[in-house]
Amino acid sequence: MSLLCQSCGMPFSRSGLAHGHESDGSPSADYCALCYDGGVFLQPAMKRTSMQHLVMHSFEREGWPNAAAWAATRHIAFLKRWRGTKTPQT
Ligand SMILES: [Zn+2]
Repeated sequence: MSLLCQSCGMPFSRSGLAHGHESDGSPSADYCALCYDGGVFLQPAMKRTSMQHLVMHSFEREGWPNAAAWAATRHIAFLKRWRGTKTPQT
């Protein structure tokens, strides 16, 4: 099991963040329910930078300063979903 969702980078310890499910109904080891369910990504066309902005804005809505929110999302590029893909930067 990963400690962080390997798509959005949110920790599973975060309150309310559930694991997604595989197509057979078993919990996904790597992805949260916001990103992944039924064995598929819920937003398959999402690009890595869009994900980073989405997560950053959710931190900002919680009152994080912009720089801290940005720093907290830099690791998203290294998560399993985005690693080694040819996902465009923009
Ligand atoms: Zn996620």
